Amino acid sequence: ITLGNGSNDVLELIARAFLTCSDEVIFSEYAFAVYSIITQAIGAKAIEVPAKNWGHDLSAMSDAITSKTKLIFLANPNNPTGTAFDSSALLRFMDSVPCDVLVVLDEAYGEYIKDDAFPDGLSLLKTHSNLIVTRTFSKAWGLASMRVGYAISSPTIADLLNRVRQPFNVNSFALTAAATALSDDEYLQRSVDVNQKGLDQIEKGLTELDLDFIPSKGNFVTFNVYPGDKNDSFTYTGLDVYQKLLEEGVIVRPLVNYKMPDYLRVSIGLASENQRFLKSLDVVLKVLV
Ligand SMILES: *Cc1c(COP(=O)(O)O)cnc(C)c1O
Repeated sequence: ITLGNGSNDVLELIARAFLTCSDEVIFSEYAFAVYSIITQAIGAKAIEVPAKNWGHDLSAMSDAITSKTKLIFLANPNNPTGTAFDSSALLRFMDSVPCDVLVVLDEAYGEYIKDDAFPDGLSLLKTHSNLIVTRTFSKAWGLASMRVGYAISSPTIADLLNRVRQPFNVNSFALTAAATALSDDEYLQRSVDVNQKGLDQIEKGLTELDLDFIPSKGNFVTFNVYPGDKNDSFTYTGLDVYQKLLEEGVIVRPLVNYKMPDYLRVSIGLASENQRFLKSLDVVLKVLV
């Protein structure tokens, strides 16, 4: 286990421990932005593989491996699309990756998935020593501001990560909070239940507003800001909707940086907050459309 100041820190440790500017790094289009940022920061070459139905195209990612590939980032579920791949797809992928290529399986939202068809990355660690699973207390555990994440890997990889890790990268308050959280199964269950109800509520509300969304396995939904027929000529962008929602007191995430200017990502909240978002969105779209 390698601890980090959030799993973001762990992802950076992995990049710093293993990448040089002559290496290639593979990740999917629309994948979590940190993969591209840390790859650029090292000066390694990013190979972005086109997404399939907004999700990772694992066979295309496997085909993109060359003798220069050092690291592959997978997010399951992915942020900001909420897409996920199943256990058999992951196993097929892992079996296709040469053992000297590292695979980082980012399970930041893993706790939200209760479906047996979806992989628990840890189950592959014994058979695939090139796998690093990362997780966090920031999402289902609700401790984002505490900053605790971790990687689980072979001892050999953990040893290498430990050599570039700052000795006190996770503060003692955060460690206490995380250790306490781990014994609070009831909180985790409630968090997952509230999220599932909220997902259903928001997806139903978006459907009623005639807005398309990407079905999500995370704690957010990414939706298209144009109701009905996308071929109509709309005079506003996702950023405009974001701005107007802000004026209504609702903060969502614009996705221009992900080259998804027609989409916004909304986090799942409590029922009343979800309702408030849907109401504000209705008001804003009535003005804009
Ligand atoms: C939020 C997130 C992380 C990192 O979160 P931390 O707060 O740094 O633990 C990593 N990967 C994905 C896909 C995320 O959405």
